[in-house]
Amino acid sequence: MLVAGAVLVAEAFWLVAALPGAALVSDLGALLVAGWATVACVGAARRQPSPLRRFWTLLAVTMALAALGRATWTAQRLGGGDLPHTPLVGAVFTVGILTGTAALLCSPSAPRTAVGRARTLLDGVIVALALVPIGWVLVFRGVAAAELADPARTLGLLYPMFDLMQLTILVTVAGPVRTAWRPMSVLAASLTIRVLADVGYVSLVARGDYAAGHVIDLCWPLSYLLIGLAARYPPPPDCDGTDDTAEASPPPWWRVALPYLPVGGAIIAVVLARRPTGQTPQLVFVTMMALLAALAVRQGLAANENLRLVVRLRRLAYGDQLTGLPNRLLFNRRLRLALRDGRPVAVLLLDLDGFKQVNDRFGHATGDTLLTGLAARMRAAVDGDGTIARLGGDEFAVLVDGDRPVPPEQLAERLLAALRPSDGDEDVGVHPSASIGIAEYGPQHASHTDLLRDADIAMYAAKAAGKSAYRTCTPALRESAVSRAELIADLRRAVDEEQLHLEFQPIVELATGAVRSAEALVRWRHPRLGVLPPARFLPLAEETGLILPIDRWVIHEACRAAATWRERAPEATVAVNISAAHLRRPDLIATVTAATAGVGLAPRALTLELTESALIEGTEAVLERLRQLRELGIGIAIDDFGTGYSSLSYLHRIPATELKIDRSFVARLGTDDERAYATVEMVTRLAGAFDLAVVAEGVETERQHAAVTAIGCPRGQGYLYGRPDGPGTVGQNRP
Ligand code: C2E
Ligand code: MG
Ligand code: MG
Repeated sequence: MLVAGAVLVAEAFWLVAALPGAALVSDLGALLVAGWATVACVGAARRQPSPLRRFWTLLAVTMALAALGRATWTAQRLGGGDLPHTPLVGAVFTVGILTGTAALLCSPSAPRTAVGRARTLLDGVIVALALVPIGWVLVFRGVAAAELADPARTLGLLYPMFDLMQLTILVTVAGPVRTAWRPMSVLAASLTIRVLADVGYVSLVARGDYAAGHVIDLCWPLSYLLIGLAARYPPPPDCDGTDDTAEASPPPWWRVALPYLPVGGAIIAVVLARRPTGQTPQLVFVTMMALLAALAVRQGLAANENLRLVVRLRRLAYGDQLTGLPNRLLFNRRLRLALRDGRPVAVLLLDLDGFKQVNDRFGHATGDTLLTGLAARMRAAVDGDGTIARLGGDEFAVLVDGDRPVPPEQLAERLLAALRPSDGDEDVGVHPSASIGIAEYGPQHASHTDLLRDADIAMYAAKAAGKSAYRTCTPALRESAVSRAELIADLRRAVDEEQLHLEFQPIVELATGAVRSAEALVRWRHPRLGVLPPARFLPLAEETGLILPIDRWVIHEACRAAATWRERAPEATVAVNISAAHLRRPDLIATVTAATAGVGLAPRALTLELTESALIEGTEAVLERLRQLRELGIGIAIDDFGTGYSSLSYLHRIPATELKIDRSFVARLGTDDERAYATVEMVTRLAGAFDLAVVAEGVETERQHAAVTAIGCPRGQGYLYGRPDGPGTVGQNRP
């Protein structure tokens, strides 16, 4: 290093001072530094890891060729030539250009594929070729035509072009991550100096101003010195080729555009070159043709690479990395296509039971191995009768479309059989089974998501039925799975959109069979689920507070209906159920009076039914409210009597007018159950003692009717006398 530096300094002194023998000193200096750089590169090739060995070896060869070329040049110059641009010198330097270029293409940051390297090389060639017409206009025009006729001489004039080609390649391959590797920057500096030197040399020669030993000669040994310097740096930390992150971030736009910028310059140069004579100079013409060819090949390579990238991306986007099965994206795509084409479609949704435990107990690596194995078995089980995909985690799906050789249920059985552990299995201690949900496309499905949702519903039903089972989605299943949240949202609209209606169940005078009263029972005609009984939606309404508007609506509707009955039966009354929440509201009285007054109904024609539990919870304010209702003349019935924890003391406090014996007691009357009989009898007596009216609820049979009549219960309600129905039965006699 020191010696090479000293040689260079001495040479500089000599040339700048223009001492005699400068030409020889210049030749010797270049020879010595090139020789030293060769040794330095050989050293690096020995020391550094194998991926870099070829790079340094090629650089060493390049430096050796530089030394050899310079020695030949010197010998021929001393032998008589002024500037010996002989074929031999030309050949040596040309080989040096080739090895130097090859070295750059073997640098640690160069593309790894042959196609990538060819593309990079072409980028360099394109730049180099584009520079010929530019150089022609700027420099060569002045060179005598005779000189250009000699190929060896022409070659000497083309050196800047090759330098720029190498510089382009270097810039292109100095990928974003590896830029940190110092030697590449040092090489870039070396190449830049050579570009300047060669350009300077060519223009000096063109003008006839060059003589051996010119100060510009210093540039060449300087560029060799830098290469020798680059060889002293340590190798990059990750040069073993395993790191692919360099591919992750795309190069900046200018690096991509770089090879094409000179092409624009070349086109302008061709126009300028034709100016004086109107003819394209032969050299320019030939290079432009070569440039076109290079561009065409480059485009071809790029197109080819793009196609391969597309294939790879497609595999990445549509495939599951672990199992190699199609992924959710591809599955959904195929499903949508099948639906669009109107083919009969079924979907099997499969979830592994107990897979999470495998992951938790044995780790993810074991989980992955198990998944891969199971996926392979399931694929074999489906065996072309459908498309199996991994939707994610432990969820798989099979799409069966077109004319089906096997029904989906049979496919499900095959899948479950495939998952059962067989004898030859490597035992990990846990064998996940699977739950499978099947949905077949039908008119109830608006889109593929509906179909998948149904398969999901069926899959959860299969899980609930115990492990290793399959279920097919039915309308009943679907209905029960319509989520709570959805139902609540629907219920909010139900009152406004008039989806509620009332049915009336007659309450009969047992002695005469006359119907003097009816109980209003609310129903919800759900747009998708059909008519829902109160048990399906009232608990939700109570939780959300929606019970208040519902109750209010019921009170108004019931009063309206009762008002129409009065023409036929002036004494007719209507019973309305009131929720516990409503009873706690002070505005209950206002609601009730507005409803009766609004339709001209006497308050005594209305009875409010309250459950025992609602009454027991009642505070002093509630009791006060009940008393006010009583004073207005409104009846108070204790509903489902006997099911709560009523004590006699509370019967004293509550201003009730009626007891409704719960149907669970009435139901046992037909079965010779002595105690049921005694209970109903006792409650009837009790009611008499408290001066309360009594209704036996849920009378379904003639035996029950006979029993309640014998006990002396005055009134009855039940399917025997009439099911809840439209408002028409009141005022008629039961036959
Ligand atoms: P509830 O007040 O005890 O009403 C009587 C229930 O028994 C009704 O059921 C009726 O259809 C049923 N039923 C009547 N006769 C028979 C029979 O012979 N055998 C059998 N097995 N059942 C009979 P529904 O309509 O399903 O109402 C259930 C409960 O929902 C009602 O019990 C009441 O507590 C509540 N409810 C109904 N409509 C309303 C309303 O508008 N507002 C409020 N807050 N609750 C209501
Ligand atoms: Mg009731
Ligand atoms: Mg009841």
